Order: sequence, then structure tokens, then C-alpha cells
Amino acid sequence: MSAPTIERTTAGTTGQGGHVVRDGAFGHARALKCRECGTEAELGPHYACLECFGPLEIAYDFPTVTREQIEAGPRNIWRYKALLPVPDDIETSPNTEPGFTRLLRANNLGAALGIEKLWVKDDSTNPTNSFKDRVVACALSAARELGSTVFACPSTGNLANAVAAAGARAGIRTVVFIPSNLEQPKQVNSAVFTDSLVAVDGNYDDVNKLASEIAGEEDGWAFVNVNVRPYYAEGSKTLGYEIAEQLGWRLPDQIVIPVASGSQLTKVHKAFQELIALGLVEDKPYKVYGAQATGCSPVSVAYKTGGDAIRPVKPDTIAKSLAIGNPADGIYVLDICRSTGGAVEDITDQQVREAIVLLARTEGVFTETAGGTTVGVLKKLVETGQLDPTLETVVINTGHGLKTLDAVATGPGAVSAAATIAPNYGAFKAAGIA
Ligand SMILES: *Cc1c(COP(=O)(O)O)cnc(C)c1O
Ligand SMILES: [Zn+2]
Repeated sequence: MSAPTIERTTAGTTGQGGHVVRDGAFGHARALKCRECGTEAELGPHYACLECFGPLEIAYDFPTVTREQIEAGPRNIWRYKALLPVPDDIETSPNTEPGFTRLLRANNLGAALGIEKLWVKDDSTNPTNSFKDRVVACALSAARELGSTVFACPSTGNLANAVAAAGARAGIRTVVFIPSNLEQPKQVNSAVFTDSLVAVDGNYDDVNKLASEIAGEEDGWAFVNVNVRPYYAEGSKTLGYEIAEQLGWRLPDQIVIPVASGSQLTKVHKAFQELIALGLVEDKPYKVYGAQATGCSPVSVAYKTGGDAIRPVKPDTIAKSLAIGNPADGIYVLDICRSTGGAVEDITDQQVREAIVLLARTEGVFTETAGGTTVGVLKKLVETGQLDPTLETVVINTGHGLKTLDAVATGPGAVSAAATIAPNYGAFKAAGIA
């Protein structure tokens, strides 16, 4: 039995509550680095730069990584562990093992939208049915290595589901905070895993502020998207790695990604850049598009008005998992979409509903309102000439429709039984189905 070989030592780093962090706790991560001014900080439970308050990101000393090494790994995100801030023995700690979800060739949806080569990356099949299991798995590893005693989050729903489930499996206490007006299925999907689901009378931005306050007061709490956010955010890179690997180690020409805080979009872009830098894919241009619902579209508004700043909004949309009025990574989304030649676009709640049904009836994939937003924005981008339908395109479905049933079960255009009939052939013929 040989010990994991990691050149970098993190010995002596202090975690939470005086916990001493072990060697190799964060894999090949070197430091926390400010996205704004580049100042580096020691790896720990920190998220804001002490010089300029900018967001901290993980900086690495990557080893040589080959396609063969990755392909020989497990069919989950840990096949990319050398590129994540996790220890080499990560697979031995109980976790939900998310990732390696289907990349579906979507010929029917493509035909409906007039797109020649379209793929759906279907992240609704993760353990708690959203892409959040990826980020939470990375945050859980950080919490464990930092000696945290409570695993927590403010959430628009899916994150709370993922945190509660991952904590249960890991045997760590969880406390999750949500806006009290959240869809009932998402509340149940958290409450079933934890006895500490806290519903807060306020919107997500209020819940987030409360979480920051608690994180500052209570020692030992790891808020996945607050004080361990740098580690959490890295989990979204695995979406980008998988898309490239599943395309046969190449990048798509265009990709459409939903935007809540904007973290996922910025990290998929970071993943593509890392794959190029590591020589795992060929360098080529690609366009990144962001999708929002009109009722919470601060990034789309900034994009369209040509501004560089994001003006916070009060969300009012059925796409609750995207309802962040003051998106932390909004300015970086703007920058990436502009510099790659993509765009940010938004659609109405009714268009979100219609896109959920369109995806379901063309590809057999039931998405939640976030995926409806993304597919609906893809449709609008083609219709408005902002996206080239002859180029290879990937659209990300980030969550499952069973969590937002009401979006298509009620309201205009609601789906339901085509007929309710007596159990005999005459009644069936009379219903006009055959
Ligand atoms: C959280 C979430 C997103 C977006 O996440 P950000 O990284 O905050 O932009 C997209 N889709 C679903 C279903 C989500 O739960
Ligand atoms: Zn800084």
C-alpha cells in the first residue's frame, strides 16, 4: 500500500475550529487566488480577497494528465480528480458520486429549431436530479478536509436538496436555508434528507445575506456557496470536461448555459480553457451563451444595454432555481459571453413553459424551469439570428421536471390527459384519439 503521491504539501494550514489540514487535502490546488487583483491566499475557509474583497478562486499546479488516465477513472466526476481541489483518496470517502451524465444527440429538437447538430447535456439524472450534486461533492470534500462540523447552504432549492443528501450520506450534520415560497417538491426533496430545513420569509438574496451573517458568527459551519465557495465552484468544471470527453475530446462550437449566480457558466468556460492548456483538446474558438428568465434577468439586461455593471433586481419568475437578483459572477458572465462572441438572452415565463413541453415531446427529457429557460433561450437565439444553426451546439439541462411540476401542470398551455373515458372500445373511438 503506497500513500497518495502529491508533491504539494498543505501541512500546517488551519481549517475551522483550529483543525490542522492534512497533506494533500486539496490535491494539486496551490492557493486561493483573487480573480480581480491576483493576490494569493493560503488554502482555507476563505472566499474574499483581503486586499480588494474580490472573489477567490482555486489556483493549481497541475500535473501531467492524459486522456487515458481520465478514461480509466470511475464513471463520475472523480475521473477528473487531478483537476479538482480534492485529495487523491477522494473516492474512499462516502459521497453521492455525481456526474458522467448523458450527452444526448438531439436530432428531433434540432429539427424543430432548425439546428443541424445539437446535443443536450442532461444533468437531471444526477443523484438529486440537478447539476448541484457536482458542486456539492467538491464542497463536501473541502468541508471534510477543513474539519467543518456543519454542512450548510442558502439555496434556491436544488442546492439544498444536494447538500442535504450529500451530508446524510457523509454522516455530517446539515442545515439548509431556502426562501419560504419555494416549490413544495423542492422543499420535500430537502426535508426528506435533513431535519434542519429552514424556510426564510424573504427571497434568495435575503436568505444569502442571512447565511453570510451566520457564517461569520458560527465557527465550524461550511456554507457551500459562501465560505467554501471557491472549492464548490470548481465542481461545475466537470460539466465542461464531460462535454469535451463525450464529444470525443473536442470542444463544441457553441454552448448555451443557464445563469443564476453565473458560477456554472464561468466554470464551464474555465474547464474548456484548462483542457486546451493541458493539451487534452485542440484549441479552437467557441461561443458561450447565457440564459435567463425575463423575470430575473439582470445579466441579460446588462448585456443588451451594453453596460459593464449588473443592476440587482427583485426576482419574479417561475424559474425559481435561477432567481438570483444580485448574481455574484454576473460581470464575469458578461465578459465571457462578449469575448467569445456569444450573447445573454432572456425569455418570458410562458416561453419557459412551452420550451419544457417542446424538449419533453422532442427528446423524451423532462426538464425543470431552468432547463425550459435554457432551451427556450436557444430557440430565441436562433430566431433572432444570434446563434448560427449550422454550427455544432450543446445546450445544458440542469434539473429535473418532477421538481417543478406546477410549471406545466397549471396555467396557460398546461398538459393533462387528452381524454377521460369509460373502459370500453366505443368510448375510446368516440374520444377521437385513433
Ligand atoms: C443553481 C442552478 C443553476 C445555475 O447555477 P449558477 O451556477 O448559480 O449560475 C442552473 N440550473 C439549475 C437547475 C440550478 O439549480
Ligand atoms: Zn484582490
